[in-house]
Amino acid sequence: MVDFSLELNEDQLQIQQWVHDFAEKVIRPAAHEWDEREETPWPIIQEAAKIGIYSLDFLVSCFSDPTGLTLPIVSEEMCWGDAGITLAILGSTLALTGIVANGTPEQYEEWAPQCFGTLDDIKLAAFCVSEPDAGSDVSSLRTRAVYEEATDTWVLNGTKTWITNGGIADLHVVVASVDPSLGARGQASFIVPPNTPGIRQGQKFKKMGIRASHTAEVILEDCRIPGRCLLGGKDRLDERLARAREGKSSRSQAALATFEASRPMVGAQAVGIARAAYEYALDYAKERKQFGRPIIDNQAIAFKLADMKMHIDAARLLVWRASWMGRNNKQFSNGEGSMSKLYAGETAVWVTEQAIQIMGGYGYVREHPVERWHRDSKIFTIFEGTSEIQRLVISRAISGMHIR
Ligand SMILES: Cc1cc2nc3c(=O)[nH]c(=O)nc-3n(C[C@H](O)[C@H](O)[C@H](O)COP(=O)(O)OP(=O)(O)OC[C@H]3O[C@@H](n4cnc5c(N)ncnc54)[C@H](O)[C@@H]3O)c2cc1C
Repeated sequence: MVDFSLELNEDQLQIQQWVHDFAEKVIRPAAHEWDEREETPWPIIQEAAKIGIYSLDFLVSCFSDPTGLTLPIVSEEMCWGDAGITLAILGSTLALTGIVANGTPEQYEEWAPQCFGTLDDIKLAAFCVSEPDAGSDVSSLRTRAVYEEATDTWVLNGTKTWITNGGIADLHVVVASVDPSLGARGQASFIVPPNTPGIRQGQKFKKMGIRASHTAEVILEDCRIPGRCLLGGKDRLDERLARAREGKSSRSQAALATFEASRPMVGAQAVGIARAAYEYALDYAKERKQFGRPIIDNQAIAFKLADMKMHIDAARLLVWRASWMGRNNKQFSNGEGSMSKLYAGETAVWVTEQAIQIMGGYGYVREHPVERWHRDSKIFTIFEGTSEIQRLVISRAISGMHIR
């Protein structure tokens, strides 16, 4: 009996083909327009909802694949179509991951469907951690959550920044500090339900890439939410804070638990961009003639393509390993989740740059998608933990030391 296989099963192959068709026929043809418009591509999200890609049910079925590979496969295919549109479609997933990582089963039942809405009434969700003075250092969040016992209400105040779907989301998952003296261990995640007064969008950012994905500040001013909106519940929080105050180790930290779970998926998105650029450059190199022969006839070009393919395949294998480990509750004892995101993100930046080089001037202009793919790729070394932070996670994991 063969226990080990890298072959996708029938279900996975079918889903891969189905999502690829959507990426090829719907996402990619719309990519240039929404990149130029720098707006949320509502008609494309609608199309994704119509065929079931934008839905809680679909994501649940992806998560339930025991190999853990369906979600990275879907993410790669969608980003092969376009990363900005994909992030507009998958942006709600980060909030969902926050609910899954920190919430109770009852909270999941109540809030997870509201991250997506229905076909007739599509909803978006946002996951709000980063702040103007707390990006990589999530332990220094200034957004405060104060509990009012008499009314069983939490009051949130603070400013979040760089938030995907921020302000246009119906539901926001907000990480805030309950006890600032405890750093990250004094934080908790809260649901801010739709139509809650006291939450609003601040500045919308104009970005280098993934411009179809909305990124904005989220401002919380005396934003009052019911006690049941604390993810995980008050008893669990009190217990966790008590352990932290006694200096005992705590099992989870709100923001970090979410990011660790979502990193392989983000890595898979980067693989999708890299693959798109590689395929485009390969075709181009076979067609384009200089000095009377195709440019791929030169080792300088052919070797570049060989390296591009090798790095993409290596990135995908790291992503698949981390996804499999995550799904099967294997501990990331060497920072495997971070490795997958780090390597895939840096591969996407490098591969898309090589693709521009292979195409020369044609790679540099907007008539071809390669310059957009390069712009899109760069975010993958920044969000969900910068490359430096991933290296920090890995080096701490392998050394057992608190490297700084
Ligand atoms: C388009 C976009 C979408 C985003 N979406 C979301 C979202 O939905 N929700 C959310 O909460 N956040 C989101 N973010 C925020 C993102 O996660 C942060 O930008 C990221 O964590 C980096 O934080 P920073 O920008 O403050 O950079 P900083 O933390 O200020 O880092 C600046 C530089 O210093 C380096 N650095 C910092 N500390 C160290 C260290 N200890 N060792 C070595 N180097 C270090 C960094 O690697 C980086 O190179 C998004 C950002 C962008 C741009």
